[in-house]
Amino acid sequence: MGGNVLVTGGAGYIGSVTARAFARSGRRVVVLDDFSTGHADNVRWGPLVTGDIADKDLVRGLVRDAQITAVVHFAAKALVGESVRDPALYDHWNREKTEALVEVCAEGGVSAFVFSSTCAVYGTPDQVPIPVAHDRAPVNPYGVSKARCEDAIAGSGMPHALLRYFNAAGAVPAARLGERHDPETHLIPLTLRARVTGNPLTIFGTDYPTPDGTCIRDYIHVLDLADAHLRALAHLEAGQPSGAWNLGTGGGASVREVIQAVERVTEGKVPVQEGVRREGDPAALVADARSAERDLGWHPAHSELDRIVADAWAYERGDVA
Ligand code: UDP
Repeated sequence: MGGNVLVTGGAGYIGSVTARAFARSGRRVVVLDDFSTGHADNVRWGPLVTGDIADKDLVRGLVRDAQITAVVHFAAKALVGESVRDPALYDHWNREKTEALVEVCAEGGVSAFVFSSTCAVYGTPDQVPIPVAHDRAPVNPYGVSKARCEDAIAGSGMPHALLRYFNAAGAVPAARLGERHDPETHLIPLTLRARVTGNPLTIFGTDYPTPDGTCIRDYIHVLDLADAHLRALAHLEAGQPSGAWNLGTGGGASVREVIQAVERVTEGKVPVQEGVRREGDPAALVADARSAERDLGWHPAHSELDRIVADAWAYERGDVA
């Protein structure tokens, strides 16, 4: 059994589900969140400290006084479109703040650092499924900022795991945890919303070089992401080597397949309209996650598409059964 775990961004979507998973595994978690995007009612799995990850005095005192031995770092901005409009915002909120956090954690003797990274660090891949050894060549400021965070963590000397998520999706309806972004930009919540409101979902591009012309993404259930963080920390605490791992299913679904899944699960039609491509969207992003299976013993057991959609639907409707 290790020491206490600091979860930055633990009031957010993936951070809250992961904090819950750590608490259920018997670890004591402390959440650090500034509520720039998180929700106070997501913090139910340990004490909350409200503040900035880049506040060095705050983090120094927290690591010392709460006997933090491990940090799981989610707190970040994560909208590609916003990053394109305002690259400096992402450089500041993601790279600069993470560099400050990493410096203080390393000085404070943190012995394991798990980082919420992204397949956006690869940019437009020249190989799909994308192996974890693929060159990093991000094509937007969000991906650039996350790659710089990876560099800072890898250079810190702390044992570390860089977890590159593909498309986080799904929810934990029984715990009332799920996607609540404002504005919402993600496909599955927007498709569910179109199903409920009758206002059409716009398909961003139908002329991609994919079997049905729409983009393919690798949707991964937030429960499986959370599980990977527990496994990554256990791996580091067992003295196993630091590294980067892709977290995806190795499969993938097109936009039209997601819409069909929503129609199956909700037993109703989703109104759609075909629109133009969204800038910066690669045709297909699918993970080669075999190294996570091999090194971490990770299996994405909850990530079948209909299960993801059913959980997201139950969350949207407020079902807690
Ligand atoms: N998408 C879409 N209509 C929407 C939102 C998203 O067609 O209203 C597409 C988007 O172009 C991408 C896929 O759905 O191909 C997943 O997008 P999302 O924003 O959920 O995740 P991303 O892949 O950008 O991380």
